[in-house]
Amino acid sequence: MKVVFSEIQNEHAPTRYLRHGALVDYPESPERVRRLMAGALKAELEPKAPDLFEASHFEGVHPRRYLDFLENGHAEWMKLPGAFPEIMPSIRPVEAPSAYPSHILGRAGWHIMDFAGAVTAQTWRTVSMSAMSALTAAELVSSGADAAYALCRPPGHHAYGERSGGFCYLNNSAIAAQYLRRGHERVAILDIDVHHGNGTQSIFYDRADVLTLSVHADPAAYYPFFYGYAEQQGDAAGEGFNLNLPVPVKSGDKVWIEALERAAKRIADFKPGALVLALGLDAHEADPLNGGAVTTEGFMQMARMIAALGLPTVLIQEGGYLTPMLGDNLAAFLTAFRRAR
Ligand code: ZN
Repeated sequence: MKVVFSEIQNEHAPTRYLRHGALVDYPESPERVRRLMAGALKAELEPKAPDLFEASHFEGVHPRRYLDFLENGHAEWMKLPGAFPEIMPSIRPVEAPSAYPSHILGRAGWHIMDFAGAVTAQTWRTVSMSAMSALTAAELVSSGADAAYALCRPPGHHAYGERSGGFCYLNNSAIAAQYLRRGHERVAILDIDVHHGNGTQSIFYDRADVLTLSVHADPAAYYPFFYGYAEQQGDAAGEGFNLNLPVPVKSGDKVWIEALERAAKRIADFKPGALVLALGLDAHEADPLNGGAVTTEGFMQMARMIAALGLPTVLIQEGGYLTPMLGDNLAAFLTAFRRAR
């Protein structure tokens, strides 16, 4: 099994994050991938550099004007008097707006949904390479590999069609699923990050060909707060093709595994040709974001359950923050998954 990653994915490094009203260091740091790569190597995955795909592969998920903003917006931003070198808007639309503004301040407000979506001079190069890693893993599985792991950093599951936030810019899991659709009628995306995969839900909300499922800490008391409720089940043709399984904040193995059993049953009913696993490790009991109490053994049990679905699987790294356990949790998950195949 391959681990797909490029060092370019470490270049984007915003410096500021707003936590409880205070400016603090940005938690989604390049150090995360050093630990995750150590974990992937411990699980005996073989490193592979991402192949370069046409950016048109992003356009099945993200509109062109958003990609243009990520690629070219920073140069325009830096022409503003006194600009800080990280795009962060001071105004955002609240009600559905009727017009797309031309000024960079308006476009920044349109495209950046929270304080964890700053765009730097390196962001486009970095996030497009993270998405290339996802596409490369999807291509490996499309051409016959049983499974492949993309060490996507930055992560992607909070990114909407045209909004960054929650440390996410391009929705790597959605891009991988869209790519897999070329060879499969139906694809499922299962998200086990402690945060609801709100961007992924939104992208496929009115579609029946991509089933989206997310197990996550109850949004009534946890980020992203407004999305991830059980009653959000899809719209139009997508009605019934989005399954949210919120669990109480700080739930442990038993609760997470029961929710995963429900997800697994829905996936089996859907009969997809392939699976994208949005693999967050931040439900771990030691994670600083403090949303779950899953143990390393709990992750291994989840890995065995997901492997038992028997589907070609693209594993996409989502969250998981700095703890001494981060690399070992990934190694434990990947090892349990491989042994169960
Ligand atoms: Zn997360």
